Amino acid sequence: MPTSPITPEAVVAALRQVEEPDLKQDLVTLNMVQDIRIDGLAVSFTVVLTTPACPLKELIQNACITAIRHLVHPEAEVTVNLTARVNRSAERPGLPGVQHLVAVASGKGGVGKSTVSVNLAVALAQTGARVGLLDADIYGPSIPIMLGQEDAQPLAETVGERTLMHPIERYGIYLMSIGFLVSRDQAIVWRGPMASNAFKQLVTDTQWPDLDYLIVDLPPGTGDIHITLSQQFPLTGALIVTTPQAVALSDARKALAMFLAPAINVPVLGVVENMAYFTPPELPDNRYYLFGQGGGTALATEFQVPLLGQIPIVEELREGADRGEPAARVPTSIAGEAFARLARSVAQQISIRNSGRVTPQQVAPSA
Ligand code: ADP
Repeated sequence: MPTSPITPEAVVAALRQVEEPDLKQDLVTLNMVQDIRIDGLAVSFTVVLTTPACPLKELIQNACITAIRHLVHPEAEVTVNLTARVNRSAERPGLPGVQHLVAVASGKGGVGKSTVSVNLAVALAQTGARVGLLDADIYGPSIPIMLGQEDAQPLAETVGERTLMHPIERYGIYLMSIGFLVSRDQAIVWRGPMASNAFKQLVTDTQWPDLDYLIVDLPPGTGDIHITLSQQFPLTGALIVTTPQAVALSDARKALAMFLAPAINVPVLGVVENMAYFTPPELPDNRYYLFGQGGGTALATEFQVPLLGQIPIVEELREGADRGEPAARVPTSIAGEAFARLARSVAQQISIRNSGRVTPQQVAPSA
C-alpha cells in the first residue's frame, strides 16, 4: 500500500491551530473534529458544529483548509464535512428529547411576541435545526392562526396510563397550542393555579419528537405561567421582545428583571426589537423610526445582554400572519432576512452559553 505523506497526527496538530470564533478555543480541544481519513494527498474530516445555524461555518471551513495546506502539505486536497450537534448542557427531566427550551416573553401585548416566535421558529428550522413551537399564550393563543392551523386537532394516543398528544407539523416545525384544546372564552377565565396546571399539562402531555429547540410563546407580562415554566422546566434562556416606544420598554424592563431575579434566575439570551423601523418597499434604503430609535439597544445595554435583532415594520409580516403563512418562509424577503439574522444570533448565544463560557447573571438590577 503506498504510504501517504500526510499523517492523522499532523492533521490533528494543524486543526489545533483553528479556533472556534465564538468559543475562542481550538476545534480539537472542543472535540469538534471527527472521522479523519487520508488517501494520498486527499484529506477529509468532519467538523461537528454546536448548532446547524452556526453563522461562522464557512469561516471555520476555510480556516481548516488553510491550516492543513500551510502546516501539513501545500498540495493537500482537503474536504471538510460539516455536521451539527446541539449540545445538551444538562439533564432535562420531563422533556427528554428537547435540547433547548427557549421562552419568548414581552412586557405587554401587541408588541409582536407571537409574530417573532413563529418567524424565529421557521427561520431556525430553515437552518436545518429540529424546532418545536409551543403556544402558551393561554389568554390569546394566536399562533394556530399565524400558521393556518386554527382548526387543527392534534391526535391523541394512549401510552401506558397517559394520553399524549402529537404536535401538528407545519412548515417544518412541530406546533402545540392551548388554542387546540380549549376555546378562547374558556381560557380567558383561567387564573393562577388553573392556568399553571393547564400549561404544565400542555408541555408534558405532548409527545415532542427529538428537538434542537423548543420555542415557547409566553403570555405578555409576568404571571403564573412564567414562574411555572422557569421553576419547573429546564429553560435554556429567555428572549425579550419589545418595540422601541418608551411605554413598551418600561414594561419590557419588568419582564427582563423578572427572569433575572434570584428566585427565577433564567438567563436572558437577549432583546429583540420589533417594529424597529419602517422601510418602504420602493425605497429599501430608507428607514423611518416611527416609534423612536435606540430603545432596544438602551434596554440591552442597561441589563448587559445582547440586542439579538431588529425586525422592521413590513406589511408582509402582518399579511403573512393573517394568511397563515409566516413571512420568514421566504428567506430573501425583507422580513425573511431579518429573521434569518435573528435565528443566527439566537443559535450563537445558545452555543456560547452552552459551552459554559458565560456565567448566568445572578443579580437582579433595581427596577
Ligand atoms: P403579541 O404576540 O405581542 O400580542 P402579535 O405578534 O400578535 O403581538 O402582533 C400584533 C400585530 O402586529 C399582529 O397583527 C401582527 O401581524 C403585527 N405585527 C407584529 N410585528 C410586526 C412587524 N414587524 N411588521 C408589521 N406588522 C407586525
